[in-house]
Amino acid sequence: MPVNTLPSPQTRPYTGRFAPSPSGPLHFGSLIAALGSFLQARAQQGRWLVRIEDIDPPREMAGAASLILQTLAAHGLEWDGEVMYQSKRHGRYDEIIRQLYQAGDLYWCRCTRREIMAGGGLYRGHCRDLGLGAEGCAARLRQHHPVYHFEDGLQGRIAVPAALAEEDFIIRRRDGLYAYNLAVVVDDMDSGITEIVRGADLLEPTVRQVALY
Ligand code: GLU
Ligand code: ZN
Repeated sequence: MPVNTLPSPQTRPYTGRFAPSPSGPLHFGSLIAALGSFLQARAQQGRWLVRIEDIDPPREMAGAASLILQTLAAHGLEWDGEVMYQSKRHGRYDEIIRQLYQAGDLYWCRCTRREIMAGGGLYRGHCRDLGLGAEGCAARLRQHHPVYHFEDGLQGRIAVPAALAEEDFIIRRRDGLYAYNLAVVVDDMDSGITEIVRGADLLEPTVRQVALY
């Protein structure tokens, strides 16, 4: 399980979090991730927060969020403060999208998944300089701070393929849904998270999140 220390002032009190998606009940792997981040936070006399990542309604299962919270509580994983729900944070995500756009760090892209797949599966900046408007488009980060590697607290140096690091990844999808990479970074930042303990399936996307920071 990777442990990523965020680029944030280490003077802040330790704050960890568990951020499940309510697509179903908490499965065993997620419970392990929750336990790891909980124990790490408690070992540091830190805070441990829970955030429900309900930004993708089509993938949600009704009742899963409360089921997950019940499961955590039943295992003695007691969180601090209020549970954060991403579905209530759209205004904040829009604000960040506006800021990125005004700073020239974001542009609109009309490429479809099919077009990108036909070109080999990797987006190569097709719409970067087209000056498209938001209508019917996805928002992409103009990647001028690619992050090629980072230090993971458990697994050590993690390097990713250059093409992955350099891709102008999606911030907001064409269908209007916010991208996981955007929401996770904005929320971790606003919550003052100092370290992330999460499932190893999220090791590679970490470079995108560090870049966005
Ligand atoms: N919501 C994500 C998931 O359940 C995890 C988010 C994270 O740890 O960054 O896979
Ligand atoms: Zn495009």
